Amino acid sequence: MIEFLNLKTLNSPYEKQFHQKFDQFLSSGYYILGKEVQQFETNFADYCGTTYAIGTGNGLDAIRLILEAYKILGKLQIGDEIIVPANTYIASILAISQAGLKPVLVEPDITTYNFDTERVLEKINTKTKAVLAVHLYGLVSDWDTLSKVAQSHGLLLLEDAAQAHGAIWNTRKAGNLGDAAAFSFYPTKNLGALGDAGAVTTNDDELAELIKKLRHYGQQQKYVSRHKGINSRLDEIQAAFLNVKLPALDASNLKRRQMASTYIKHIKHPEIILPVFDTQAHVYHQFTIRTKQRDDLKKYLDKHGIQTLVHYPVPPHKQPAYSEWRHESYPVTEQIHREILSLPIRENLTDDEVFYIIDKINRY
Ligand SMILES: *Cc1c(COP(=O)(O)O)cnc(C)c1O
Repeated sequence: MIEFLNLKTLNSPYEKQFHQKFDQFLSSGYYILGKEVQQFETNFADYCGTTYAIGTGNGLDAIRLILEAYKILGKLQIGDEIIVPANTYIASILAISQAGLKPVLVEPDITTYNFDTERVLEKINTKTKAVLAVHLYGLVSDWDTLSKVAQSHGLLLLEDAAQAHGAIWNTRKAGNLGDAAAFSFYPTKNLGALGDAGAVTTNDDELAELIKKLRHYGQQQKYVSRHKGINSRLDEIQAAFLNVKLPALDASNLKRRQMASTYIKHIKHPEIILPVFDTQAHVYHQFTIRTKQRDDLKKYLDKHGIQTLVHYPVPPHKQPAYSEWRHESYPVTEQIHREILSLPIRENLTDDEVFYIIDKINRY
């Protein structure tokens, strides 16, 4: 069986270093917001090219904290409209709702699966205050167009970079494109911890300082809460593991790109649509193909020992939690959710396995 993902084997090259980190951690007796968190914040900001990285408990909270901070800074108000892709993982949208803001869904482009920028313009009105772009499957959203749109309408431009660690637009990395960006280090992401973890990146001094407080009960100093913050700190041991893995991120992304290139070069099937290829802007968090026979192809590959997944089966506007949207229609989003299929793509997939998968798909 070619597994879609196996976290145990994916992390096994780092086991020795993880054990060392854990031993140090155990003997330090310091478990929360210690040296490893500080070190990771420096390392990850350096990696992204930003002035700041602030560790958070997870990616959802990272988005939420950005929005809460802008509310305190007076740049957002309860009820403001935030433009977000209709075709995204639910967390992007939950964060907006939780902050008391209104998610306004925009259809994707059928070739990139990211925002259709023309349609972003259609949704802008006087209540619109921000655009939250999601670099879905690891591909940076069309940043030239989005930044022009945001600038000309005076909107905040934010990134959900939870799937795009290391992706580059022109010369800048994801996380250093918008006013602020959110990352997740959920174990399956391109940079994954051994539990929950996340971060905000930004070049904005005021925002960074505020988010540092908000993640820790809004505390200005110990036991003095300046704001009604939350508890969403990056865990010390997760930061230690991330410090071990960060130096290997570029090499791991390179392997994903090489695999994507092989898939794209060799998969030849009239019924199958491949993702765009880009050696800079795409880090292939997922390698997603599209076909009208998705469910049948999935079964066929399964029968041949190839595990695939659907990212994602239920679009946000069809989620029970958002029943207020159940009568709305987003045909492009719905089509993508019906037709999408993710093939295994991970650094420890062998060439033989990649070519076996290609061969089986071409014979379908
Ligand atoms: C994973 C993910 C999140 C949420 O991250 P968590 O750490 O699981 O909270 C948000 N947005 C996108 C696009 C994601 O893929």
